[in-house]
Amino acid sequence: MPNARSRTTDGFSQRDYALRNAAWHVTNILRDINKHETGRKEGFFDHFTTHDEGWTEPYLFESDEQATRDIRKVAKLFEADLFGVCEFDDRWMYSEIYDDTANESKPLDLPEGLPFVIVIGESMDQRLTETVPSALSGSATGLGYSYDSMTLITLAQYIRNLGYQAYASMNDSSLGIPLAVQAGLGEVGRHSLLITEEYGPRLRLGRIFTDLPLVISRPKKFGVKEFCSICDRCAVACPPKAIPKDDPSVKIHNRSNLIGVEKWTVNAEKCFNFWVNQNTDCSICIRVCPYNRDFTRWYNRLWKKLAGSPLRRMALFWDDLFSDRARKKSSNWWNES
Ligand code: SF4
Ligand code: SF4
Repeated sequence: MPNARSRTTDGFSQRDYALRNAAWHVTNILRDINKHETGRKEGFFDHFTTHDEGWTEPYLFESDEQATRDIRKVAKLFEADLFGVCEFDDRWMYSEIYDDTANESKPLDLPEGLPFVIVIGESMDQRLTETVPSALSGSATGLGYSYDSMTLITLAQYIRNLGYQAYASMNDSSLGIPLAVQAGLGEVGRHSLLITEEYGPRLRLGRIFTDLPLVISRPKKFGVKEFCSICDRCAVACPPKAIPKDDPSVKIHNRSNLIGVEKWTVNAEKCFNFWVNQNTDCSICIRVCPYNRDFTRWYNRLWKKLAGSPLRRMALFWDDLFSDRARKKSSNWWNES
């Protein structure tokens, strides 16, 4: 907070930063909980280790289906908005992770023999994302992370209490989006973010690596790739032009991109350089995305059906006509009752 560099611009005042940094607070405490003793930055460079000892004998479920039902139910109880399961896939694991103390690489320290990955999604507040870019909108990101870390740690502890191995992980250890796609949470959009049927692109992701036998979820398709191929709103709106306008390809921009996967690839270094210079998050590509809607409303669910059909150009026209995707003033958010 002392380094927040608040200014008089709308959305960047001290009260905006005060809220944003408070929203991040739980994540930051968990990140630094072992930092002084071990140098770990849990949830960002290292998986979480804040756990009590679990049961010594594994609880025997009647079936994998029953175990999956229980874990899903408990995940929802612990505030997970989305839940899916996929197989462990070495392609998306980091070969090395960053040691913040030594400023060098160190080996990934997850043990072998964790064949299942639980993927959870935490939604981000839609009204706050309308004020992007602003320090205020960073509260949506921070709250997503704080809920994510709470859900991951408690769910991993529950699995340990059942007598199984469970390692909770957020930005550390693996890529989140490919595992989320395999676990059936959604599809990848042109902006390289996960797009879900429930929250569009407004989501933070977490993983639990476990040996508890679970039923694998099926990947889901609802027409995102086809819709993105006729839409370029994120690519046009991105200030540093980090989002490609052309078709999915294996082309990479720099060493921060994934090699050998045909997809829309954002120039991650251009993106990152831009938004850290804002002294908050960016997420303009989330604000302008036509999938950024409140899908509890019937007309937005109708829009989704149209976007996933051959009439997708009509859905794009609908979004252009009826959705105000310009940045909203943060002061409006503060003044709402
Ligand atoms: S977060 Fe901002 S800079 Fe990064 S890709 Fe999205 S719009 Fe571009
Ligand atoms: S803005 Fe358009 S092109 Fe970009 S991810 Fe959203 S739907 Fe796809």
